[in-house]
This record gives sequence, C-alpha cells and structure tokens, in this order.
Amino acid sequence: MTDAIRRRGVCLVISAPSGAGKSTIANALRASESRLMHSVSLTTRLPRPGEKEGVHYHFRDREAYNRMIAQGELLEWAEVFGHGYGTPRLPVEKALADGYDMVFDIDWQGHRLMRAALPEDVLSIFILPPSIEELERRLRGRQSDSDETIENRMRAAQNELSHWAEFDHNIVNDDLDHAIRQTKAVLRAARLRTARQIGLQAFTKRFFPS
Ligand code: 5GP
Repeated sequence: MTDAIRRRGVCLVISAPSGAGKSTIANALRASESRLMHSVSLTTRLPRPGEKEGVHYHFRDREAYNRMIAQGELLEWAEVFGHGYGTPRLPVEKALADGYDMVFDIDWQGHRLMRAALPEDVLSIFILPPSIEELERRLRGRQSDSDETIENRMRAAQNELSHWAEFDHNIVNDDLDHAIRQTKAVLRAARLRTARQIGLQAFTKRFFPS
C-alpha cells in the first residue's frame, strides 16, 4: 500500500481576510483528512464566548508570551489587531517528524515567518472571497455593528488581501464544497512530493533485488 511509505508532514498554512471562509475550510479538512493536526496558537487576547483553552488557543498574558519568545519556544509570532499571537514550536516539530501534517490558521505575517523558519515544509494557500461586495456582506454580520466597526473590518480585510501573491496557491471561495475539494487536492499533491516521501529509498530497493 503506497500510503505506507514513511513521509515527513506538510505545514499547511491557510490565510485569508476574515469573512473569506478560512476557518470553515480548515475545519472541513480536519474532519475528513487522516494524519492531520491543527496547530493551536498562543494569544494574549481574552477568550471569546465558547472558546476553550488549549482547543481554540492557548490564552496567555503578555508576560508569559514574552517569556516564550525569549526562550525560543515560538516558531513565529506577530501582533494582530493589537494582540500578540504565536505558534508553539515543539508540537510542530514533533508532528512533522511523526509524519503528521499540520494546518496553520495564521495571518500573512505568520506565513512569511513560517516560510523563513521551515522553508522545506511550508505549503501555503490563500483563500479569496468571490468579490469585495460579497466580502462586505459577510463582514456586516450582525446588524448591530456600527459603520465604524464595519469600515475597520473592511480595511483589515483589504490589508490581508493585498498579500495574496506571496502564497503558493490561491483559491476563490465562491462555492464552499468546491473550495474544500480544491484545498484537499493541494494537500494531497504536496504529500506525494518525492522530497517528502522519506521512505521511498527503502521502498524502491524492492524493485532492484541485488
Ligand atoms: P482571532 O483573534 O480572530 O482568532 O484571529 C485574528 C488573526 O490572528 C487571524 O487573522 C488569525 O489568522 C491570526 N492568527 C491566529 N493565530 C496566529 C498565530 O499563531 N500567528 C500569527 N501570525 N497569526 C495568527
């Protein structure tokens, strides 16, 4: 069975402006793909209702966050919307070595830093909304949001959108099922790259008995 060939995991970075459907796509991937883990980031912001420690984020105060940076425990870190965010290093290194893939739901800054930290392992996808009008409709969300809040969200979304060309793949999310299928196809192709299949040498030896 070819799936049995030992391989090094892929770091799948998924970025998008909020409202493009990134979390839904990442969740669908996790629910259906075996040997795929989610990187749980650290954040200095407070939990939102329903968010659980260790599941959605590791919630830490500034002091603990700064200490982890100083001790080299974060692979990458960035300020987003006035809060500190970062990716713990150890779970990533362990998952990759054990042949698990990891999904990273991080912003464009995190993508750049991850690429610098793990150039051989990062595979990146940027999710685009179908149009700016549709993005605004999705960002309007609750009717109670003020115009100022919506304008801020649109500005942040446009800033994120301006980084689309830095990613390996771009997927337009105009149909969620289709976007999920495309994301899976990218991941599956990456898993089969010769350089990732570190068990190939042993496997191919069987074809050339000495
Ligand atoms: P939220 O606080 O709404 O969950 O996330 C805000 C932003 O922070 C999102 O764009 C998300 O992708 C980004 N983010 C979450 N975790 C990390 C991380 O570990 N590193 C970086 N660079 N960005 C992150």
